[in-house]
Amino acid sequence: MSIPERDWQTATALLSSSRDVVLACHVAPDGDALVSMLALGAALRRSGVRVCASWGSSPFEVPDAYSFLPALDLLVPTEQVPAAPELLVTLDTGSADRLGVLVDRVSTSAAVLVVDHHPSNTLYGTAHLVDPDAAATAVVVAELLDRLGLPLDPEVATALYTGLVTDTGSFRHASTSAHVHELAARLLATGIRHDLISRAIYDTQSFGYVQLLGDVCARAVLEPHAVGGLGLTWTVVEGEDLARHGLGLADVEGIIDVLRTAREAEVALVVKYDPEDSLYKVSTRSKGAVDVGEVCTALGGGGHRFAAGFTSYDDLPTTLDIVRGALAGAPHLPV
Ligand code: 5GP
Ligand code: MN
Repeated sequence: MSIPERDWQTATALLSSSRDVVLACHVAPDGDALVSMLALGAALRRSGVRVCASWGSSPFEVPDAYSFLPALDLLVPTEQVPAAPELLVTLDTGSADRLGVLVDRVSTSAAVLVVDHHPSNTLYGTAHLVDPDAAATAVVVAELLDRLGLPLDPEVATALYTGLVTDTGSFRHASTSAHVHELAARLLATGIRHDLISRAIYDTQSFGYVQLLGDVCARAVLEPHAVGGLGLTWTVVEGEDLARHGLGLADVEGIIDVLRTAREAEVALVVKYDPEDSLYKVSTRSKGAVDVGEVCTALGGGGHRFAAGFTSYDDLPTTLDIVRGALAGAPHLPV
């Protein structure tokens, strides 16, 4: 499903006529969310637009892995986001509540352009560039910049390439299309250091993380009969684990990528305690036979077919029971 031409016209008209733009992405931003803001922000700023970018959760810190990104000076702390923007552009944010404490800007902004690729997007806001077939929100941003006539310079290219790498799992996921590679080729042609990008994102961790990974994987549980016999593996990262190794939630995103390699389980699940909000964030991945996006949406979260999450306010055993029940009832898809 590609984006209708009239949506592109509305979006480019809005951006071409706005001199003051606020960018926002989902709480606890991942790579694609961050870079989609930074790429669009850097390109708009160069064309003379006043632009700032933010998100509505604490800590308001760019994860270490992304500290190499360009245009980080566009970021303003949540409290400094204008109260009533002329144009709010949300990026990689499937529903208004994912804006966290910035959710009110959806009603206080004169216009709200939603740029996203989540199938679960609720089409909040006043204008939409939503393509569930796009491998990353960064892919939609790249086309938007092309249509606005804004160049893909090395700064913008570094950001967009990072979005491609993070949302395709280094060009491994099914979403990696010919178009993704064509875009990647254009971005590499600007001379960016893709090797340093991949090293920063995937191959650089603190020693504390390496130890935590060991602890957390050692306690992983395999439940072969779960998910209607397709198998589940899960583990938990408690607040004490984070505290012991001096890590934050953003540092432990990669654990699910290790857990999901277990051949015996269709679905992998990491339950992570969020010390800021005293709740559990649940990350899920499937190998293709179960739509975890639907499962998580039904549990109040969202995401993609094979990578999704939700928030749980229950304790660990209750959280696991709820998700086990939802997974047991999920239809099995042809792989
Ligand atoms: P992750 O497991 O890496 O945190 O997230 C995987 C996918 O699920 C991402 O697309 C992310 O935006 C989405 N996701 C994770 N947690 C939530 C949540 O609580 N609510 C919604 N709507 N989406 C989520
Ligand atoms: Mn994304």
